[in-house]
Amino acid sequence: MNESMKSGIRHSNPIRNTWTRDEITALYNKPLMDLIFEAALVHRAWHDGSEVQMSTLLSVKTGGCPEDCSYCPQAARYQTDVKGTPLVNVAEIVSSAMEAKEAGSSRFCMGAAWREVKDNVHFDRIVDAVKQVNALGMEVCCTLGMLSKDQADRLKEAGLHSYNHNLDTSPEYYDKVIGTRTYQDRLNTLDHVREAGLNVCCGGIVGMGEESKDRVGLLHTLATLPQHPESVPINTLVAVKGTPLQNQEKLPFWEMLRTIAVARLVMPGSMVRLSAGRTDLSVAEQALCFMAGANSIFTGDKLLTTPNPEFQSDAAMFALLGLTPRPAHKPQPHLDQVPA
Ligand code: SF4
Repeated sequence: MNESMKSGIRHSNPIRNTWTRDEITALYNKPLMDLIFEAALVHRAWHDGSEVQMSTLLSVKTGGCPEDCSYCPQAARYQTDVKGTPLVNVAEIVSSAMEAKEAGSSRFCMGAAWREVKDNVHFDRIVDAVKQVNALGMEVCCTLGMLSKDQADRLKEAGLHSYNHNLDTSPEYYDKVIGTRTYQDRLNTLDHVREAGLNVCCGGIVGMGEESKDRVGLLHTLATLPQHPESVPINTLVAVKGTPLQNQEKLPFWEMLRTIAVARLVMPGSMVRLSAGRTDLSVAEQALCFMAGANSIFTGDKLLTTPNPEFQSDAAMFALLGLTPRPAHKPQPHLDQVPA
């Protein structure tokens, strides 16, 4: 029996949401080389290993947020260098989307620093932007805070492809990071998104002072949702001056790599997104992440308010590693497959 069979991982494993914490802990603690190797095999069984999706994220309304997320420079209560801006107009959003498409992006995400969506002219503007960016043939994603079922329906009707709402960390560590809304609030929004027939983009942030059991706890929550998120962003904390986590010690790269590899193993059909914190990674480190199953990155020089590698340096990395950008709307593996 080879190593991967001993661990219960078969490369063609069906998607299942019956993972236990113990199983995920055992994967997380595997010898690193075995973990990466298994994740790479599963990755290639489910996806084209040479394809990486390029997504672009635009902050359409920056700063002034009433929430207290400890990592976020956009929270109004923290003194940071982020300058608040009102909601940008639709023409500006569409022109950014066109520019991103031109540079190879197939997915365009709009982020607004809101606690929740309100039914007002600002939401109307977002809906209009979704329609217009969708008409460009891009996958359109939004991250706007908490959302009701009716609002999710409206976005779906406008052509929204996915809605991002992260769980951030494990249920146990969550209240060390955020006090203004609960884990259950987040799960409720995810339900509304799912019920509206939108794709779910949901992941978390590593390096916020949590322990490896919390990274396991996050992955366990994601992998045991009724249906796995189609997209799982794994962010590394970018410690920003003025936020409560400004002095947080950097998480060793290897822990982030383990998180990516385990995400790939337990949610084999999902897109795993190497997200915030990528500027701190060398090309060699990013290559290890792609080997371990990451198949999406954010491109463009800003990720909401934190720095991100520029299009040109990413194009050079793609050429070096033999990667190609994934086209928009390429069907994903069967995430609606009934879990075993
Ligand atoms: S992460 Fe989002 S909800 Fe939290 S403070 Fe920042 S903008 Fe507000």
